[in-house]
Amino acid sequence: MRNMGITILDENAKLRLEMERDESDACVIRPVGVVDEDLNATVILTALSSAVPPVKALKLDLGHVSRMNSCGVREWLLLMERLCRFPNCSIVNANELFVEQANIIPGVFGKKATVKVESFQAPYHCGVCARDCIKLISPGQVRIEEGELKAPEFRCEKCQGPMEFDWSEEEYFSFVKRL
Ligand SMILES: [Zn+2]
Repeated sequence: MRNMGITILDENAKLRLEMERDESDACVIRPVGVVDEDLNATVILTALSSAVPPVKALKLDLGHVSRMNSCGVREWLLLMERLCRFPNCSIVNANELFVEQANIIPGVFGKKATVKVESFQAPYHCGVCARDCIKLISPGQVRIEEGELKAPEFRCEKCQGPMEFDWSEEEYFSFVKRL
């Protein structure tokens, strides 16, 4: 049986780079922490190129990065250019930080048509319960009504009332228009 555990590719005080095979046998890369000029892209590319069995699908789990400075963004863009070349490259669980960056800089989610954004986090708020909540959604769930971007609707788990999308829909979902 294949070892389904997490491999730590690199770890320093700021960032840990994890790799694992998920249940669909996709190779998952997960940066955890701060992305800055010390992002070790080589270790990721080497691990993917030498993976046994070879990588048939690549998923980038972008839900665990807490901070990214301008040097980090630059390093990330360079890395994405290389990762785009792996077959079936997709982005999952992108958090607010990545969505914000992708709205400003298109290449953060890779070149158009080479990388699929499968899922990303979206912030919601229930005014009745004064409760914030993060929902995982796919770009396909964002509707365009009369030219305006609309967040999918969710009900509060506590009071069952409708929750508000807690950001400007036009801003937060602008990357969806470019996919
Ligand atoms: Zn509520």
